Amino acid sequence: MDLCNINVIRSVMESEGIKFRKEFGQNFLINRHIPEDIADNCSDREDCMILEIGPGIGCLTAELAKRYEKVVAVEIDRGLIPVLKKTLAEFDNVTVINEDIMKLDLNTLIPQLAEGREVYVCANLPYYITTPILMRLLECGVKFNSITVMVQAEVATRLTSKAGGGDYGAITAVLGYYGETRKLFTVSANCFMPAPKVNSAVIKIDLYKEPKYKPKNEKLFFGIIKAAFEQRRKTLVNAIFSKYPDFSKEELQNVLVDMGYTPTVRGETLSVEEFCALSDRLFELRAEG
Ligand code: SAM
Repeated sequence: MDLCNINVIRSVMESEGIKFRKEFGQNFLINRHIPEDIADNCSDREDCMILEIGPGIGCLTAELAKRYEKVVAVEIDRGLIPVLKKTLAEFDNVTVINEDIMKLDLNTLIPQLAEGREVYVCANLPYYITTPILMRLLECGVKFNSITVMVQAEVATRLTSKAGGGDYGAITAVLGYYGETRKLFTVSANCFMPAPKVNSAVIKIDLYKEPKYKPKNEKLFFGIIKAAFEQRRKTLVNAIFSKYPDFSKEELQNVLVDMGYTPTVRGETLSVEEFCALSDRLFELRAEG
């Protein structure tokens, strides 16, 4: 069954009496080369487990199941579950879970399902919830090897941009803390049904096995990044001061100048490593004082 064929998609959905649900970000792939390419890029080992988010009617799930030992697909839309039963009937290595990925206790569930296998994430992500899903995957405590996901093209640019560029944001810096992100390829809007208004791109985040950056206080590190980008137009001194008024502006300026920055430096020019060094200096300042 060609699960990217428009007529097949229509007929399997009609047979279960279901419609596309916009509120779940349902734009299904209709170019079969795309799920093949995404699946190819997910992992270089066959004996792993893939966690797929949002299988839809299963076009990507099927390609993953052909290539990897075990696939666990989490789909929020109850109406799609009987469809997936039919479309994935030939695969005995797929487990479908009808849940909201944001509500699952991944830290408990994933090790149970993986049974010692390395775990990779793969998805054509629902666009309405891209960043929260990425944050959840990064913060849930599970050691995923990599995350290969389709996102809106402009989000892909943001997630893969470098410090100093206009697209560099808090999420870019946070991703940089957990791993290395690169863009694999772009996908035109007409590869989907219904077609979204914008193009998409597939990115891959290779997660560090051991933390590359070790801030002395993780909460402060993330807090400084958040402050820097919440107040993007402000200087870093003013942005940090608005969120952490316990530091005086003079103290903040002294730390920055001491670290080699101009007093009017803006947060968007700092790399992850620099945010880490800055938060360490501020942490030490309070620990001393
Ligand atoms: N994988 C299919 C494809 O590539 O054609 C469908 C991708 S579609 C962009 C996103 C899928 O994610 C939909 O099937 C939608 O129902 C599902 N979804 C949306 N929000 C979800 C959530 N919070 N948890 C799990 N699945 C979700």
